[in-house]
Amino acid sequence: MNAFSNLQLSPGIARAVAEMGYESMTPIQAQAIPVVLTGQDVMGAAQTGTGKTAAFSLPLLQRLLKHENTSTSPARHPVRALVLLPTRELADQVAAQVKLYAKYINLRSAVVFGGMDMKPQTIELKKGVEVLVATPGRLLDHIEAKNVVLNQVEYVVLDEADRMLDIGFLPDLQRILSYLPKQRTTLLFSATFSPEIKRLASSYLQNPVTIEVARPNETASTVSQHFYSVGDDDKRRALKQLVVQNKITQAFVFVNSKLGCARLARSLEREGLKTTALHGDKSQDERLKALESFKSGEVDLLICTDVAARGLDIKDVPAVFNFDVPYNAEDYVHRIGRTGRAGASGLAISFVNSSDARLVGDIEKLIKKKIELEPIEFEGDSQRGSDRPRREFDRDENRSHKERDTSFGHSSSRDSQDFRARAPSRNYSRPQAPQDPFFDKPYESSVSEGQTPSWEAAVKPSTRSISANIKTKRKVAALFKTEPTSS
Ligand code: AMP
Repeated sequence: MNAFSNLQLSPGIARAVAEMGYESMTPIQAQAIPVVLTGQDVMGAAQTGTGKTAAFSLPLLQRLLKHENTSTSPARHPVRALVLLPTRELADQVAAQVKLYAKYINLRSAVVFGGMDMKPQTIELKKGVEVLVATPGRLLDHIEAKNVVLNQVEYVVLDEADRMLDIGFLPDLQRILSYLPKQRTTLLFSATFSPEIKRLASSYLQNPVTIEVARPNETASTVSQHFYSVGDDDKRRALKQLVVQNKITQAFVFVNSKLGCARLARSLEREGLKTTALHGDKSQDERLKALESFKSGEVDLLICTDVAARGLDIKDVPAVFNFDVPYNAEDYVHRIGRTGRAGASGLAISFVNSSDARLVGDIEKLIKKKIELEPIEFEGDSQRGSDRPRREFDRDENRSHKERDTSFGHSSSRDSQDFRARAPSRNYSRPQAPQDPFFDKPYESSVSEGQTPSWEAAVKPSTRSISANIKTKRKVAALFKTEPTSS
């Protein structure tokens, strides 16, 4: 067994880990921690949800213990480790974890990201911190304002590196890396090792140890997946009913558009459900508040878009609803990865309407599982026929999407009106965690993410363009030919 006790972490770090309730290491931790403890560079393929934050932060804190001190002088607390992430939420999340791991040691940590007043961040930076978690843009602002100096950095972590490149952060990363000492340990984590990521690694990592725990496109075996045939007009009613029937105390509800997300949250609220919306048009403050209220259990349903929810680590969400079938099959895997985490059992319910055949076909292919459409029976609606047999998608792989569309279109428009379902009557309020197969099977990120965060400005769903706030994406290959900007 990969027990943390075998690692000989310092008592302070070991105590914090024990308090987190971690018993054994996840696969990425078992592979990465011993390597990082030796100070080697690492190129790790792992998604959020695999335990990768602890995989890099625990050994990093352990290595930095030699710098522990209680001096109040800022000069005694220079930045020794820098963790870069693509989004504010991820930065916030990782920083929160680092703080917990460093609870019993004398190393300071802080987080800086955009969309917030720079002043409080500046005050914290000026007091001195050993571990700095940051998004690239805001970090550059602080560097330019001379609020932080990075010439004593020993460790740099490029987390979610593929997303940073997708967003167009490469020039910013190059600049930041140019401020760091050449003698350092660099850890790069990415969902995929695309050619761009390999180039980034070959430019900035030295003889990295490659660690790969991701297996592509699998869903956790602990998640029970259901697909209900529901017309658009009945989705809200179906959602409410399934929440009650399954005694769901907390759930993510995914909607494909920001507008749809806001509307659904409002209408459910009007109907008395405790909901909050998380989408790109919300301000940073509103988003953090929405997350907080969901995490604290103040609200039951978090209505969100894919991008807003990406990478968020909210533990033990008992259920996930796909109010809309996602445009990208990869997003389906990503969405339902919110539940059934760390071995807990979870429920994933998707509402499928007559025009979703192609999308559902894509999901079927990706997860390599046959999808059975279930009818839904609305309570108090008993005059209609019930208990019709389950419907299945045509499994003939040779049929085109168009054909599938047509056949599905006919049957499902009837399904949504006629069919009744007996919803599974399990209680999804308290998942147990017997083992953690999900950690072995994280999904490999989508090639095209479809949407970009609103903080990256309005974009068409199918393009991978980026925001007004962030610099325009440039050809990665071209950028590697240029020397990093020097300070
Ligand atoms: P991450 O992939 O780092 O976002 O971690 C996902 C979640 O797994 C976080 O909530 C961690 O607290 C949790 N976690 C990390 N390592 C372990 C572990 N060894 N055992 C149980 N939970 C863990």
